Amino acid sequence: ASFDIVQFSEELTEEMQLLAKQNQHIIYQHTGTGSSVHLDPKILKYCVVNLVGNAIKYSGENTYIEYSTEIRDNRLELHVRDNGIGIPESDQKHLFEAFFRAHNTGSIPGTGLGLNIVTRYVALLKGSISFESKLNQGTSFTIILPLDS
Ligand code: ATP
Ligand code: MG
Repeated sequence: ASFDIVQFSEELTEEMQLLAKQNQHIIYQHTGTGSSVHLDPKILKYCVVNLVGNAIKYSGENTYIEYSTEIRDNRLELHVRDNGIGIPESDQKHLFEAFFRAHNTGSIPGTGLGLNIVTRYVALLKGSISFESKLNQGTSFTIILPLDS
């Protein structure tokens, strides 16, 4: 079945906004050719909820979180960007390991499982996931999924 990624993302953004901190604003944008995608919405929801949930959790009050989707070349790209605590460089290579948590999480709760499960889902869909991060500046995650079928 196919669904509309814009409608899906706008609804999810509203739900996630309820979980955000004081004056943390989630901004959603879509670009590209059309908005219908042939993917499992439950898998997509798990991925976006964990990435946006992490952005909320690991960034402070009065910040913006950007969530965007783009369809091009028969691929769906998802981007989630925050201006949060960032990930220490020496921790970055371990980030997708089960139960791994970076050393700067302090008293912020978490199990270190969310991203590991996201990587398994992305692999199932023959996609890819990557991130860039600077300590104390912010982090951005990208998921790219093929839309062949
Ligand atoms: P949960 O299983 O509840 O999602 P978690 O958030 O700790 O717990 P992951 O989502 O797998 O686990 O993330 C793993 C680790 O990666 C986090 O503990 C944190 O150290 C780091 N991390 C993930 N996203 C961000 C982010 N946006 N900014 C800073 N650090 C992050
Ligand atoms: Mg998480």
